[in-house]
Amino acid sequence: MKRITILGATGSIGSSTLDLVERAPEQFEVLALTANRDVARLAAAAIRTNAKRAVVADASCLGALRDALAGTGIDSQGGAEAVCDAARMGADWTMAAIVGTAGLRPTMAAMEAGGIIALANKEALVSAGDVMMAAARASTVTLLPVDSEHNAVFQCFDSAAAHRVRRIVLTASGGPFRETPLEAMRTITPEQAVAHPNWSMGAKISVDSATMMNKGLELIEAFHLFPVRADQLDVLVHRQSVVHSMVEYVDGSVLAQMGTPDMRTPIAYALAWPDRMATPCEPLDLARIGRLDFEAPDPVRFPALRLARGALEAGGARPAILNAANEVAVEAFLRRRIGFLEIAAIVADTLECYDPAAPETLDAVLAIDAEARRVAGERVKDCVA
Ligand code: NDP
Repeated sequence: MKRITILGATGSIGSSTLDLVERAPEQFEVLALTANRDVARLAAAAIRTNAKRAVVADASCLGALRDALAGTGIDSQGGAEAVCDAARMGADWTMAAIVGTAGLRPTMAAMEAGGIIALANKEALVSAGDVMMAAARASTVTLLPVDSEHNAVFQCFDSAAAHRVRRIVLTASGGPFRETPLEAMRTITPEQAVAHPNWSMGAKISVDSATMMNKGLELIEAFHLFPVRADQLDVLVHRQSVVHSMVEYVDGSVLAQMGTPDMRTPIAYALAWPDRMATPCEPLDLARIGRLDFEAPDPVRFPALRLARGALEAGGARPAILNAANEVAVEAFLRRRIGFLEIAAIVADTLECYDPAAPETLDAVLAIDAEARRVAGERVKDCVA
């Protein structure tokens, strides 16, 4: 029995993970499930999986969680520190699927406890890449990428021949606005932005896919996860989302991982690693799909990608600022306070006017994240005014 914990159990990744776990109850014992405020979904999942503990990050929801779990014997806890405590319960396998830098402390807490960390929470790695990877190297933890692109690279990357890798190519669907006339992009609504053509995901990452900031964050994520230089990382738009990413070697061989776009495949890979497990995902039918298209990303349409590339190359505090400003701007867009094109503009402005030294500790990363949020929040107010 693998003892597992799911941080962000009520989200899109959390639900897909639960789906796999619940199909193989003889293989998994659930230690802890966490959420922010979605008590109904959390309590239902905790009861179904007979979890030992359920935690809401928002302490004001603890009363409702206690009521929902009354008589079940499941321990209920509330507050951000309780999420970190749950992450330290000593699971063999932890899914880090909280959205945003809210997942940073819990993910680091899980890393202190050891075991396998299946990392979906890319914002944590983007913000605190050097600090997080140093902690990973100093611990016994195994970090497995869940993001479909990095999971694909992980499956194709021959670590024994890392010096023979020429390039990593991350594929991108291009999101829903790959062909939208540029003048029409100004009036894009949150509903249009979250309607991803190929993947079913949470709201924040769906907007990131639409701006292609998601691919920018993924460039930074890949830089930390794999032993390559920034200039060895490329992006290719591939609208069918069948080839999930590729590794090119010096002899000209290119290894790609393919599959139907369903996050349960990379999650299952991480759940069963180093073995494999069956999933209910639709098998890939290339004859039916017929063709696979590839094109270079359009730098005018997707300025966020350029901003992220700049942050990656500059390093230091830049990725944390990029990420924090993006989180603020996406949230403001989803609340209809700013327009779609203002997301990248706010990130650019924040990077422009805030340039602290590189953070060396987790607290320093969080301080930079907080200040970048404040600066980006001011920009949002300017846009609204
Ligand atoms: P969702 O928005 O669907 O879910 C987010 C989860 O995080 C929910 O369980 C939510 O709880 C919880 N949460 C939100 N805020 C907090 C907080 N302040 N403290 C603690 N918990 C919190 O996101 P996704 O599942 O789409 O994405 C999760 C992560 O995985 C993101 O980093 C994303 O970039 C990454 N990812 C997602 C993919 C996907 O297909 N969805 C693909 C690749 C990576 P509640 O429900 O109570 O709000």
